[in-house]
Amino acid sequence: MITADLAVRRVGRLATLAGPVPRTGRAMRDLAVVPDAAVAAARGRIAWVGPDAAFDAAVEMAPGAETLDADGAAVGPGFVDPHTHLAFAGDRDDEIRRRLAGASYQEIAAEGGGIVRTVEATRSASVDDLAGLVCARLDEMLLCGTTTAEVKSGYGLETGAEIRSLEAIRLAASRHPATVVPTFLGAHEVPREHRGNRARYVDLLVREMIPAVAERRLAAFADVFCEEGVFTVEESRKVLLAAREHGLKLRIHADELATTGGAELAGELGARSADHLVFVSERGMRALAEASCVATLLPAAAFYLRLGQFAPARGLVAVGAPVALASDVNPGGGLSPSLPFAMAVACFAMGLSLEEALAAVTVNAAFSLDLHGEVGSIEVGKRADLVLLRSARLLDLVRVGVRATRAVVKDGRVVVRDGRLVAGSAPRP
Ligand SMILES: [Zn+2]
Repeated sequence: MITADLAVRRVGRLATLAGPVPRTGRAMRDLAVVPDAAVAAARGRIAWVGPDAAFDAAVEMAPGAETLDADGAAVGPGFVDPHTHLAFAGDRDDEIRRRLAGASYQEIAAEGGGIVRTVEATRSASVDDLAGLVCARLDEMLLCGTTTAEVKSGYGLETGAEIRSLEAIRLAASRHPATVVPTFLGAHEVPREHRGNRARYVDLLVREMIPAVAERRLAAFADVFCEEGVFTVEESRKVLLAAREHGLKLRIHADELATTGGAELAGELGARSADHLVFVSERGMRALAEASCVATLLPAAAFYLRLGQFAPARGLVAVGAPVALASDVNPGGGLSPSLPFAMAVACFAMGLSLEEALAAVTVNAAFSLDLHGEVGSIEVGKRADLVLLRSARLLDLVRVGVRATRAVVKDGRVVVRDGRLVAGSAPRP
């Protein structure tokens, strides 16, 4: 008999996502559904999964334990968002309005807008203020069902400010129920003071910033914005090799605005994830599949940036690359914290099936963060992170404007109930 402190009963369809990790090809459609199911958790971990009819014989509830009644609705793993830029201060709303009037991302950056403007605001924010902003954004994500999030630095762009950003991310993680994976993104942009000598900034990244971040154990991953007009493939390789030498795992912003060869570089270096990929080449797609490097797609970014084009999601699935989806929350146009919104665009603009989109925000997203042993599927021993949907109908996930989740459980605790946050960034007892 298992003693549980939380149970979810009368689940119409339990999408466990148990099975192979990462999901590729046809396996991306396999949600490993248990019909008429129940789940039990003990001390924050999944303790039992099975048919509801077998629950009473297998599980006893501890005194004071809570039982959620799914009333026939679907339940899945808590969503995993593998690409966000939550650690920023200020806003760039004026630039977003200019894009609505027809200006491109590159035009705005060339006029001194873009990332460097957020850098000014972020450098002058305190660690505590920045942590508060990260927590408020994690709250919004939790409401949408996200229980694990990667969070990047990258608006400091000098050693001290990058370290403060990562400290703010760590502080936010200690205050918030969500599981947070910190990524060092000092190579997000060349800051204004180094524009006359790019090599000097790359050198600073390699010789000073990466060792300082690694020494303080502030990041699990390092990332580079490998893009036309930002960091070249050569510069990106230098930065990522240094990061790898210092024990950091790798991710790359690749082929977002033009075909630059970022995906090929990700394959070459054994990066865990190559992100965006709107303009990825055929060769790049094959490189990702061969290296089991996750193709992390950010449909909301392409949508809000008005790129007029989306990553070739179907081609990536066909070639055998593991596909994940992320929100890309950021001040330049990452306006939606909602993975269900990313799923809606991924399905209706990019042609993923609902099942593929769900695998992309759970098991494959967890693999992209190297956390698949902990989150991303509902299996005994993993963290008890669950989303209760509104009905048994998966289409309810992509009905934009209607809240997709009715309740969210994080580490065996109800954090969203009836669509309201009951345990977010507020201090916990
Ligand atoms: Zn990004």
